[in-house]
Amino acid sequence: MRPQPRSPWRQRLRSRRWRLWAALILLVVSLLAVLVFLAAEYEEARDQTALEQDAATVSNDIRSNLLRNVQTLQTLYSVTPTVDSWSTPAADLLAQHRELVRLEWRDTGRRLLAHRDSLYIPDLFSYLDRAQALPEVNLACDNAVRQSGPAYSSSYFWPLRNGKGIEMMEMCLPVTRAGTPAGFLVATYSLPGMLAELTNKDLLRGRGLAFNEADGTRLALHSSVTGSRRTLTARAVLDLPGHTLLLQLQSPRLVRGLFPNVLTAVVGALSLALLSVLLLLGRDIRRRQRAELDVAEALAFRKAMEDSLVTGLRARDMQGRITYVNPAFCEMVGLSAEQLVGSGLPAPWWPPELVDEYQQRQMVRLAGQILPREGYESVFQRPDGTRFPVLIIEAPLIDAQGQQTGFMSAILDLTEQRRVEELNRASLERLQATARLATVGEMASLLSHELNQPLAAIASYASGTLNLLEPPQGAEAAVAPVQAELAQAMRRIGEQADRAGRVIKSVADFVRRREQAREVVTPQSLIDAIQPLLGLQVKKQGIRLQIHIAPDCPAVLCDRTMVEQVLLNLARNGVQAMPPGEPTTHSGLRLLRLEVGPLRLHSGQGPGGQAQKTWVSFSVTDHGTGLSPDVADKLFTPFFTTRAEGMGLGLSLCRTVIEQHGGALTHEPAQPRGTVFRFTLPGAA
Ligand code: ADP
Repeated sequence: MRPQPRSPWRQRLRSRRWRLWAALILLVVSLLAVLVFLAAEYEEARDQTALEQDAATVSNDIRSNLLRNVQTLQTLYSVTPTVDSWSTPAADLLAQHRELVRLEWRDTGRRLLAHRDSLYIPDLFSYLDRAQALPEVNLACDNAVRQSGPAYSSSYFWPLRNGKGIEMMEMCLPVTRAGTPAGFLVATYSLPGMLAELTNKDLLRGRGLAFNEADGTRLALHSSVTGSRRTLTARAVLDLPGHTLLLQLQSPRLVRGLFPNVLTAVVGALSLALLSVLLLLGRDIRRRQRAELDVAEALAFRKAMEDSLVTGLRARDMQGRITYVNPAFCEMVGLSAEQLVGSGLPAPWWPPELVDEYQQRQMVRLAGQILPREGYESVFQRPDGTRFPVLIIEAPLIDAQGQQTGFMSAILDLTEQRRVEELNRASLERLQATARLATVGEMASLLSHELNQPLAAIASYASGTLNLLEPPQGAEAAVAPVQAELAQAMRRIGEQADRAGRVIKSVADFVRRREQAREVVTPQSLIDAIQPLLGLQVKKQGIRLQIHIAPDCPAVLCDRTMVEQVLLNLARNGVQAMPPGEPTTHSGLRLLRLEVGPLRLHSGQGPGGQAQKTWVSFSVTDHGTGLSPDVADKLFTPFFTTRAEGMGLGLSLCRTVIEQHGGALTHEPAQPRGTVFRFTLPGAA
């Protein structure tokens, strides 16, 4: 396809399409981001809530275990103990409860009666003396007294020999015996031990657990989250009588990649798939639009080409229905494309009498016969009845699958070609006629030369015979009637021989195109000259001859003999047009009328100022068969005749003679039937 300059309209369309695509992609991407973010937030909030619940559970576990410990410790006093009897169960208790580092039995004055240290931390009090912890013990016991129940001291750091230390807390349980105070049981808790022993191990897997102070200072650590990953932190308060501890539970934040859960991943994947489908679709649409544009341009190009053609184009399907026509074809057959497309057989342009023949041709074509490459000629008819010859060249119509779907025809209007052919033929015929005329001319001069001698002989024999018949001088009375008639006949023979001589001379002159002798002749004398001959023919056919010469008719200037021949020829044609036995019912119509009169021209017809030329009109009217349009067309063509014995030269010569005189020879139908031949001759000044 030819490269096309991009129009501003197309560029605008392109940039708008790109902006739309960018907006769409941005929308989908931001939707995806928001979705991922919200899903992550939701996940984190859920994890945080779960962690906080777990922290509360851990805190509750510690509290209830401490309470249970109080009850267990009270068993040390279920029977009245002695210092020795106290020690053994106390040691057992310490062995069972690792969170306890020391048990003390003190009297009401808080003096130490007995004590036992945990075996798990043997040198706990080797670095610092136990007395250093007494303020905490007293604090707890004061609280215990006040609350009449177990109470806890605040936690404190207890340094060890190896440079480390341990965070501890005192619990003081007042012991009563029969309703009276009987001293205190002081249990020293290690905070790490509490975290390790009093909690549910399953809850702490992979998590960090510690006791913190309110300001965040770490008091005791059980476990911490490994690695430097980000963590979630939940805090729970461990509210004990006399002291409150802050429990911190840490959990690693689960890194779930870009998509925190399956749902988000699925929605994300679907969105990405949607986006890619949209992109593919967009590309497809773009390609399709480009292809459509290309096709539209190709179509417009083809249409312009077809519209500019003068050859008619027509496509038919296999059933003979029209599927396509171009404007040239519509113009040719005089029907619109809407009228033509879809029309079947017989086609609207088939001449009615040729329908069968054309149907036959169609059948042959549909039977798969090979169409002639050079085409075939046919005749089409327009709705107004006019017909025209055409040349049809057909080719099978093959679709993209290689199947024949119909026929494509190119139709050429042959009218103009035929007209040119006809012109050529006519001019050829004229040429031939001219050649024959020349031959006739030669023949005529030959004949005139040959006939002059016998005619002269006839004339002299006639005058000789006449002399012999002349009665001798003075014997007039004795002339027999037969003799007189013979003399009359001899005179007529002499006259006619003379006339024949003149005719031959005129024809010879005419053929040689010599200047004819023009003379002033009265119409009456012209008529008189032909009347004897004409009278004979008319009488033979039983036709009435009527002659009318206008009284004011001027004389004419003409070649007398030739004009006489014209008159005679026209009158003879009229007689021959009324053969005997023709309309017997209208015997009044068996009439031949010769009329002569001056021709009155309308004023202004002659050149202004000049004296108007006078014309004399001669007409010969018969009531015979008349002229059919066919005959009328060729009337003046040399050698055209409808008669077996005719030469077809009469009228053609007549016209030439009249035209050489400056006049015109015309004809028109006579009323009620027959023909009027009229010619004009110049009047003598
Ligand atoms: P020809 O007389 O030798 O046939 P013309 O040139 O005189 O030749 O006439 C040519 C033809 O014209 C005739 O054959 C005849 O058919 C026709 N024609 C001439 N005059 C008349 C007429 N008055 N009425 C009918 N047909 C005529």
